[in-house]
Amino acid sequence: MKKVLVTGGAGFVGSHLCDRLIRDGHEVICLDNLFTGSQKNIQHLIEHPNFTFIKRDIQLPFFAKVDWIFNLACPASPVHYQHDPVATVRTNVLGIMTCLDLAKVTGARLLQASTSEVYGDPEQHPQNEKYWGNVNPISRRACYDEGKRCAETLCFDYHREFGVDVKIVRIFNTYGPRMAMHDGRVVSNFILQALRGEDITIYGDGSYTRSFQYIDDLIEGMMCMMQSENFTGPVNIGNPGEFSILELANMVVEMTGSSSKITHLPAVADDPKQRRADIALAKEKLDWEPTVQLHDGLFKTIDYFKQVI
Ligand code: NAD
Ligand code: UDP
Repeated sequence: MKKVLVTGGAGFVGSHLCDRLIRDGHEVICLDNLFTGSQKNIQHLIEHPNFTFIKRDIQLPFFAKVDWIFNLACPASPVHYQHDPVATVRTNVLGIMTCLDLAKVTGARLLQASTSEVYGDPEQHPQNEKYWGNVNPISRRACYDEGKRCAETLCFDYHREFGVDVKIVRIFNTYGPRMAMHDGRVVSNFILQALRGEDITIYGDGSYTRSFQYIDDLIEGMMCMMQSENFTGPVNIGNPGEFSILELANMVVEMTGSSSKITHLPAVADDPKQRRADIALAKEKLDWEPTVQLHDGLFKTIDYFKQVI
């Protein structure tokens, strides 16, 4: 049994990770300031003897004797991370330093939830971990992209300078139950619009692509990475299936049997045109690959949103 700190544990990904850790018999401290997360996501765990929730900002120093740290605290959707961009940079940079300092004094292993956004608007396709990315440092997305890039830098500097045991996963677009209703991400937006019979809003012509990963596959990948030996990463964790936004819209309309019409709104500035995970490294080092097809994952996610609206 490990003592585990999960920052951002009341969010979409974090709450599923807490579920998995508790199920595996670990002791979990969930630290979250509830900026984009919700206590509802962890309500079912609150009474569990192995689970502790602490409402706190990750920018503040924190001490607990732990074996593993998963650092997920950070708003992840463009509407939320652009709401207060300076706070986003602070959360990324000061947040990872809180975690690294804790890892340094306790000897804990630290896994940083990085992102495919470190590749920016990629000029290499698909993206593997050797690609350094194409990020506009002064765009509206930069508070998130550069914040995450700096967090990776700090992980490697603490690793080289102080021997901290770090691991970095670069997560590609992930969806599933407990995505926040109003965070504007494409999968939740389209499902909610379809279920309510509202227009499906495609920004631009719908030709931009993403690879969409179901939450269970991500959690399995993160657990494999945390338990791996002699491997810092960074490693891509994503589903290599690539779909255009128009294809996704059509799938959601068809699967919900919705009468919604697809409408095109102006394209968003600095929106990456295409993204697909190259997961060869994860397969080789972690013996991991996703198992949930987009259709099956969407089915479960649609079911969830039917219950919550
Ligand atoms: P989320 O917004 O649901 O979860 C983030 C959590 O962090 C929330 O509970 C929020 O309240 C908390 N938080 C934010 N700022 C904080 C602070 N200063 N102190 C303490 N807690 C704070 O987002 P998510 O989709 O669950 O993402 C989790 C992590 O995974 C993020 O670091 C994100 O960058 C990364 N990630 C997610 C995706 C994805 O598609 N979901 C893709 C790439 C990377
Ligand atoms: N998108 C869209 N309509 C929406 C929400 C998003 O067309 O209602 C597009 C968005 O412009 C981007 C893609 O879907 O091209 C994925 O957006 P999301 O915010 O989910 O993820 P990210 O851009 O961070 O990969």
